[in-house]
Amino acid sequence: MNLRPLVDFHCHLDLYPDHAAAVNECERLGVFTLAVTTTPRAWPRNHQLASATRHVRAALGLHPQLVQERAQEFSIWDEYLPRARYIGEVGLDASPRFYSSLDTQKLAFERILRACARAGGKILTIHSVRSVAMVLNMLEAHLPASRGKAVLHWFTGTKAEARRALDLGCYFSINSRMLENDRHRATIVSLPNECLLTETDGPFVQFEGRPVRPPDVEATVMALARLRSAEPAFISATIGRNLKSLLSD
Ligand code: MN
Repeated sequence: MNLRPLVDFHCHLDLYPDHAAAVNECERLGVFTLAVTTTPRAWPRNHQLASATRHVRAALGLHPQLVQERAQEFSIWDEYLPRARYIGEVGLDASPRFYSSLDTQKLAFERILRACARAGGKILTIHSVRSVAMVLNMLEAHLPASRGKAVLHWFTGTKAEARRALDLGCYFSINSRMLENDRHRATIVSLPNECLLTETDGPFVQFEGRPVRPPDVEATVMALARLRSAEPAFISATIGRNLKSLLSD
């Protein structure tokens, strides 16, 4: 298969051994890739490398798992915001390891959402581990759909939560690991075509015994096609169209 377009809307390109080579691979193979960052300090280099390409863009992030120790970097995040169209990785993580920082995470995420709403036109890739309802409450309260667009990355909520996210105008970026879980598969089947995107979350996910890379997202398109009883070419065309509509206006 040589499906195009391919879209990896959430990948940590700067966490591969050779960042520049990872960017170049996306460009050479024509994989539209959103390079997310975990700290705002990483954004300038990501933005610089991405700006020289047609297929890669960089997102300004402050990862919920790092918010506690990186709170002082908020001023840097604010400083770069006017130049960043893409925001992430941001969100909440209420898993046991990070539960103690949840209050700080919420303050940070609210600040991020309000700043994005004020600025307008931002596209966010959002982490919501064990916190989907909270994330949706905060999106609803602080980022009206007219002021920014939200993509839920590695969504693990219920079908009812997915419907609520759809009502708020969210997109969903689907990765290979989500498709291995029966409950998540059932949720993904229930999603309309118009909200679907794909991602790898590389290098944190393994593929064929090594860290996943953006071109591997083709396997996720194939798996999505099987799950939704559609042709792979239809799924990739749908995702390409969704990316376009996400980026329009
Ligand atoms: Mn990630």
